[in-house]
Amino acid sequence: MTTEAPVRTAVRYERISKSFGATPVLREIELDVPGGTTTCIVGPSGSGKSTLLRCTNLLEVPDSGRVLVGDEAITDRGADIDRIRSRVGMVFQRFHLFPHRTVLDNVTLAQQQVLGRSRDEAATIARRELDSVGLAGLEDRRPAQLSGGQQQRVAIARSLAMNPEVMLFDEATSALDPELVKGVLGVMRELASRGMTMIVVTHEMRFAREVAHQVAFLDHGRLIETASPEEFFDAPRSPRLRTFLEQVL
Ligand code: ADP
Ligand code: MG
Repeated sequence: MTTEAPVRTAVRYERISKSFGATPVLREIELDVPGGTTTCIVGPSGSGKSTLLRCTNLLEVPDSGRVLVGDEAITDRGADIDRIRSRVGMVFQRFHLFPHRTVLDNVTLAQQQVLGRSRDEAATIARRELDSVGLAGLEDRRPAQLSGGQQQRVAIARSLAMNPEVMLFDEATSALDPELVKGVLGVMRELASRGMTMIVVTHEMRFAREVAHQVAFLDHGRLIETASPEEFFDAPRSPRLRTFLEQVL
């Protein structure tokens, strides 16, 4: 007989709030992301989605409340930012690759600089991750010689090469031509099915419905509703979410 391991919390937001100047952008957000699961965050433009993700790897610091990654309260003073960013990978709408470096360099540099890996070790890991996102053989190209979808997959491989515990995706497919979206979502699906913990800000409602374990709705900095995809899309409780879904579905 096997006993199931208890589900550990990979990321926990404890009443986090954040204002820019006098404008509250996050208001007492509470959310648990269990290890090995995917949480999708949806909501209107300006509702605070990016700010919430950015508080998860200290690109922003909440004014109050705590963010825990594993057992560590990353928002406590003295946290090692480089180490936290290697534990929490982030993929942006724009890929932020180094334009003058090869694909391989783009995936090895942070491994060498942040994790202190040797060039050889970093290259071996980079090749493995590039293969896992379907880019084997393109190591010597420059970013400009790749499609937007391929560039985004380089950015994903670059994050994965750091062995993150959690992956954040901020509208990772929003800047792509429609025909390139599928390949990137496919890589994200594959990651989810391999048990990566992911927090995904997306407008791709089909992805949210099919891949997420939970979906959270953010509106004006408040987490209005968090539910399983079935409940979220088929039986939304709050009127605000119902209106939002009517607009986007
Ligand atoms: P979303 O990702 O849901 O579109 P954001 O988290 O980017 O929302 O932004 C939420 C609100 O915070 C918006 O009103 C935005 O203009 C504001 N905001 C975001 N970043 C900053 C910043 N660095 N300085 C001032 N205001 C900001
Ligand atoms: Mg955003």
